[in-house]
Amino acid sequence: MTAFWTEADYDDHELVQLVRDAKSGLTAIIALHSTHLGPGAGGTRFWHYAEPADAMRDALRLSRGMSYKNAMAGLPMGGGKAVILAGANKTKTPEMLAAFADAVEALGGKYVTAEDVGISEADMAAVAQRTQYVSGLPVEGEDAAGGDPGPFTALGIFLGIKAAVKHKLGKDSVEGVHVAIQGTGSVGGGVARLLARDGAKLTVSDIHMDRAEALATEIGADTAAPDAIMSVTCDVFSPNALGAILDDAGIARLDCKVVAGGANNQLQRPEHGPMLAKRGILYAPDYVINAGGIISVTLEYLCRNDKAPCDINEVRKRIALIPGRLEQIWQESDSTGESPDQVADRMAQALIGR
Ligand code: NAD
Repeated sequence: MTAFWTEADYDDHELVQLVRDAKSGLTAIIALHSTHLGPGAGGTRFWHYAEPADAMRDALRLSRGMSYKNAMAGLPMGGGKAVILAGANKTKTPEMLAAFADAVEALGGKYVTAEDVGISEADMAAVAQRTQYVSGLPVEGEDAAGGDPGPFTALGIFLGIKAAVKHKLGKDSVEGVHVAIQGTGSVGGGVARLLARDGAKLTVSDIHMDRAEALATEIGADTAAPDAIMSVTCDVFSPNALGAILDDAGIARLDCKVVAGGANNQLQRPEHGPMLAKRGILYAPDYVINAGGIISVTLEYLCRNDKAPCDINEVRKRIALIPGRLEQIWQESDSTGESPDQVADRMAQALIGR
């Protein structure tokens, strides 16, 4: 049997825990990549995996991603992630969530969980009944940090796109700048509305074209079919739907000067960052530009524990630092010849002491 820590995705994770509860039928993996900067923070994914090894791979990769994201967002949190292995019928019971919550509690605050794919706010509220180590809970009042992270993620991406336009095109405004947006959900829709307000020319697309068309009508944008959006001739391509879209074929299709959007894990493999750079396309590393949501969710958690102000202005202040961080990455990339993703990874690794 091969030791799993020789797997390509194992990156000296501090702890990888298998959680089994025969009574409820729970099988879960909690992976803590790094607690160098603080408790490992990252959501719980509820997903049916074809093979258990796929679940392990997801937990390992996603928890490392959270270490990098939290570090680059300047948050006092490390990186962690949990996956609950759903059965083929995806049954999720209160007993399973309770057993999962007990496992999080037993880690004594080393891991702080939140929602991810397949886990709702109501599920997290149930988990919070049995453990205090939860973020992403509903908050009361418009001025409180927390709540739906989507709009905060969108705000960070909007500011990041403006920074990219300044860096690559030398323009101080997005007025007349053509942005093609893939995905018009919580994040993509928010980005589109903010850009429209500043006079950008927009083309939007979604696999649910009715959603894209409704948004286009609302903000005065054009639409493109889902299989055409990546090859639209534009200034900025903004992926806000799926991961791994920047593969050999995807990069070859691009007709833009900048890629800047919120989707997680946009580069299919590490070599795709340099490939984008070689084509002269400026890339905004995903985990740097899409940190607005995690900033909000984390400040909500820290505020509940009296470790940060509970003020939405604090969230906005920290999101406003995203463009500067991107600019630092691009400048270093320009001077070293490394691609922006390589520079960002190196910066994140230094921050977490690797
Ligand atoms: P969402 O579910 O609200 O929206 C996603 C949209 O993408 C949907 O409208 C969906 O129909 C569309 N879509 C799916 N596949 C598509 C395709 N092939 N082509 C075009 N459109 C497609 O999700 P969201 O919260 O807006 O998140 C979007 C992306 O941003 C995801 O990758 C997510 O992991 C990432 N992200 C989100 C947040 C957040 O705060 N919500 C934070 C960080 C990263």
